[in-house]
Amino acid sequence: MATTIPSSCRVPHFVGNKEIKFKEKAVPEPGPGQLLLRVHANALCGSERPQFFDGAPVTPGHEAAGTVVAAGPGTNTQVGTTGAIFLMDFCGECRSCRLGFTNQCLRKRGDMGFNRDGGYGQYELIHENIFFPVPDEFSAAESTLLLDVMGTGGHAIERCRLMRPDIESLLVVGAGPIGLAVLTMAKIVIGQQLKVLITDIVSYRLKLAERLGGLPINVRENSLSAGIQSHGLVQVDMTVDTSGKQVARQEAVDATAQRGSLICVGHGEGITLKISPDIIAPERSIVGSEYFRYNELPANLQRLQAHRGYLSQIITHRMGVDQIQLAFETFFFGCETGKVIIEQ
Ligand SMILES: [Zn+2]
Ligand SMILES: [Zn+2]
Repeated sequence: MATTIPSSCRVPHFVGNKEIKFKEKAVPEPGPGQLLLRVHANALCGSERPQFFDGAPVTPGHEAAGTVVAAGPGTNTQVGTTGAIFLMDFCGECRSCRLGFTNQCLRKRGDMGFNRDGGYGQYELIHENIFFPVPDEFSAAESTLLLDVMGTGGHAIERCRLMRPDIESLLVVGAGPIGLAVLTMAKIVIGQQLKVLITDIVSYRLKLAERLGGLPINVRENSLSAGIQSHGLVQVDMTVDTSGKQVARQEAVDATAQRGSLICVGHGEGITLKISPDIIAPERSIVGSEYFRYNELPANLQRLQAHRGYLSQIITHRMGVDQIQLAFETFFFGCETGKVIIEQ
């Protein structure tokens, strides 16, 4: 049965100065190769800070899941299919895309929720190639775990494994949502025996990390090296930085053993390196990790099926869209959340 799609709907409007109002916006019709989704869940993300503080010309939201309600000409997805939306509107034809590196598309059409209307509105218009079907046994909130949690976290772990085959210990800098994502995906992909040390200054986050199997280090109370020693190690095999802080990255390089890498996931500040002692002699590397490839999604869906309860612990708050202002304040000012999800 066809759903009635309204011609317009009320959507959050990020006006700047940490204020979210609502406005009426037309609901678009899908053109050739496009799908229209009724969004049911969208997760908040630290990368939305500029949109919350300074406003946004589009409707934000880049961790969305929902149901296809209309399909344009030339598409193959059935109306009624549920699934998640990949952030990057990749072209599918460039040299990167042809090799599967869709997170490095050379002719990207846009970024959903950043320069295209995203998932805090009720309806989202996308190109079909960025839709990933998810069985409807999973709620939309659970489906969002495939994006910045399992996708971004899992891609960082893949970058780690690319640099080093024998990973016995991993340091995750920062226990915010991406840090927790890296922790959980490290445990799932590399194995439960892996020692995952994780730092933060917020005890709520460290407790959550500990429940997820991490070895917490409170860097407000201890130096990083003392924290590492408290878990029986001197250095770690690999490090993933999710903090974006220069001081933390400098310390992380020193904490990483010979043949190790610092994988940078958190955008932000810089780093100063002494090339001979930091990089050449110990054969360390510094590696970037940006979002993930669309073709990582099928394996992550299987992992979600196998580790559903474990991964769902990262979602700590689920709120209706009418509470979006409170949701953003709780997420950005409280520091006592994992993933916060807006549902509608
Ligand atoms: Zn995000
Ligand atoms: Zn491309």
